[in-house]
Amino acid sequence: MQPIHNTHTHIFTLESIPNQFLPLGLVRLARTKVGGALLGVLLNQLWPFAKNDKLDRLAAFLNIGALRTQKDIFEFVQKFYPSDSRFVVLSLDLEYLGSGVAPLSYIDQLRQLIQLKYRYPDNLFPFVCADPRRPRFLELVTNTIEKHGFTGIKLYPSLGFCPADGRLMSLYAYAEAHDIPIITHCSRGGIYFQGERTSDMHCSTYRPHWWPLTDRKNFANRFVDPSNYETVLERFPNLRICFAHYGGRQEWNDFLLHPWPNDTHTPSWLSKINDMMRKYPNVYADVAFTAFQKRFWPLIKVLMNTELLQDRILYGSDFYMVRSSVSEREFSINLRGSIGEQEYSRMARTNAARFLKFDQETD
Ligand SMILES: [Zn+2]
Repeated sequence: MQPIHNTHTHIFTLESIPNQFLPLGLVRLARTKVGGALLGVLLNQLWPFAKNDKLDRLAAFLNIGALRTQKDIFEFVQKFYPSDSRFVVLSLDLEYLGSGVAPLSYIDQLRQLIQLKYRYPDNLFPFVCADPRRPRFLELVTNTIEKHGFTGIKLYPSLGFCPADGRLMSLYAYAEAHDIPIITHCSRGGIYFQGERTSDMHCSTYRPHWWPLTDRKNFANRFVDPSNYETVLERFPNLRICFAHYGGRQEWNDFLLHPWPNDTHTPSWLSKINDMMRKYPNVYADVAFTAFQKRFWPLIKVLMNTELLQDRILYGSDFYMVRSSVSEREFSINLRGSIGEQEYSRMARTNAARFLKFDQETD
């Protein structure tokens, strides 16, 4: 039997967070021992009233990301799972976020991951983050995969680029030709672009005047909409791609609350992803973060009993972003206990091994 795979984790440290990610020098403060502790206390006091993406992230960073190495964080998450478990570790290139610089460059974040991969060759499967604004990003991707044993590619469109961006076509061509898995962020919110809009920031699926930059979060959400992948998949139908978060909790709420189809809402991102799974052979989705909410467990159970979709859903937690909501073990056990052993096993073992192509390995 295949081991458990958590196909969505992060282990980058606070050193990788740009200085202006939060105002008032809070990121710099959080990196110090006293400042981090102080912010932790403050955030605990504020917690019941704080409904803010950035504060959510800060809580996660203070909990796990602060004052630790990627190795420490990786060894921490391992201890919540059986020792043979496998973890996809998604690196994050925040250098084009528009929030200034971070003490640790993205290249150094990758260097640390390369070291860690040598240490944990059977448990750690790193993905390299591709951003079309980075000069020679494709070279970085091919190098880390071919020379350093990285497993796949991470895309995070809300950092400020459209998945249908022409500069990414060479990346998709490479991924499809070599059957390399891609995991793309697909939920509203999270970390999103903070800088000034530039002329290359547009998506063919939306007209430019629909893009007010006054609301940065919604601006970034345009990039995340899975519809942006329709033209990509038409051109690269065999692309091995996973929509992280399966559209996310807001879209799952919409799906549960509204009749479909209807006049006022376009299809939920959940439905759009399901349609793409039905149309293309290698489209997957993970339940990372989204599955921490109890109200979604019956829906996951139903999806895991729906023909075809049941073979495309992956188990991921979004460690350590999800820790401000539940502990890692709670996330895993709650889901496993509620959807049942067979469904959990299909998600975390069979489907994940197929997505990552571990099921083709012979020993
Ligand atoms: Zn994530």
